[in-house]
Amino acid sequence: MANELHHTLYATAKGGSPLTGPEYGAKDAHRIDGAVVGDLLYVDDVVGSPRALAIGSAGQVLTTSSGLPAWATLFASAQNVSDDILFSWGDGNDTVSLNRSTSLAADTALTNVLVGTPVTSAVAANSFVLSNITASGDFLFAGNRGGNSEEFLFFDSSAGVLYLSGYNGGVSLVLDADPDAPDAGYAMVWGNAAGSIRGLIVENDDNTNVASDAELLIRSGGASGGDPQLRFLIEGEQNFTIGLENASSDGLTFSAGAALSINPRLIMATSGATFSFQQAVEVNTASGTNLTLNAQGAGDLILQTGGVTLLTLDGGNDSLIAAAGIRIGADSGDNEIDDATQGAASTTLYIGNSSIDVTSDVRVKSDIELWDGQATVLLNMIPVKSFDYDSHVPFGGIYDGKYVGLMAQDVYRVAPWAVNTQGGAYCRNCLNGVDCSTHSNPWTVKADLLTGMIVKGIQELTERVKILED
Ligand SMILES: [Zn+2]
Repeated sequence: MANELHHTLYATAKGGSPLTGPEYGAKDAHRIDGAVVGDLLYVDDVVGSPRALAIGSAGQVLTTSSGLPAWATLFASAQNVSDDILFSWGDGNDTVSLNRSTSLAADTALTNVLVGTPVTSAVAANSFVLSNITASGDFLFAGNRGGNSEEFLFFDSSAGVLYLSGYNGGVSLVLDADPDAPDAGYAMVWGNAAGSIRGLIVENDDNTNVASDAELLIRSGGASGGDPQLRFLIEGEQNFTIGLENASSDGLTFSAGAALSINPRLIMATSGATFSFQQAVEVNTASGTNLTLNAQGAGDLILQTGGVTLLTLDGGNDSLIAAAGIRIGADSGDNEIDDATQGAASTTLYIGNSSIDVTSDVRVKSDIELWDGQATVLLNMIPVKSFDYDSHVPFGGIYDGKYVGLMAQDVYRVAPWAVNTQGGAYCRNCLNGVDCSTHSNPWTVKADLLTGMIVKGIQELTERVKILED
């Protein structure tokens, strides 16, 4: 019968003397049927009957099954390491893990887990901590791509540098569920949020030192490399790229394309602080707001075409200089104010409603006939008076004597075409030379328009002198 405990007489089994007392403890005095070297005995029932447990396999540990001892393979089923129990790797317990049952404050050491002066975040209760506590011991996590191990996360402990690797397809920092794969070769911050912003922030939170800058650095390899650039894209729509055009004197370039060389619009040179617009330029302000170009100090504001200066706002002299004259109303020499004769002088220009009419050309006149009016009679009807100006002094102060001249109202009664009445020709106040609340501008005699009558008067006098002399 298997596992039966046999009692054997010492004398019988060994050929010795008959038993004289209990010798149950003697080796070979009891045997278990079928038991071999390495089997274990255990109590099989309530009366203490022994039973053999066959030797287990290498690596197995003794456990229980249905209330009886049993061999089992370690970690072949769910295992548990209790709260706060260190589970370590390495002869020196280099790398340890535990489930921290209670919260742990930031930057707080934990014996054999977080050592030295930790720089760590606060953790909540029941947080898992995995730590390599050996100085300069690194952490490497790897997957297997195509049969070859490939690192995806590495912390160089001695350098304090974390490497997040996506050697084949890139890296994605995912902010929402169900991410797209990153664009090949890109590290991507990915989000998919309706009505919310997803972004990337570069921040230096210090607010005590003016050198505490925050910087987003975009860097290319060098003069023989490509362009450091920032590209904006509305998918399926428009690209816009800003960057340093390495192939074009390193100028800061604004382009309406997927590269700086595509449709460049604005280039800021690396020297001379020159902006070069590559297309027609239109500068708009918001409605009702000013556009100001300000040359500081005594700097000039200069407008050029083809490198030739046409207009200068001379900051040192507070003057406006038009190098080639100013054309008013039409692009014609006839309309030009200049320091040289221009055009056919067939155009009337105005200052206010006062005209500068240099036209005497017969070709711009009609209904021409000799005038047989009595010029001397008419001229005699215009009184010549002496006077002072009240406030409207045309050529500075009066130092002695008085002006001698014509009163516009007097001239108007005789030669109305020679008077600029400023809209008051039919106004009783203006006509009588009294203050008028309707027409504030003073009348002006256009003396050149009287020239014809004066010439005619001289001709009449000449004729009379000739008659008297004859
Ligand atoms: Zn008036």
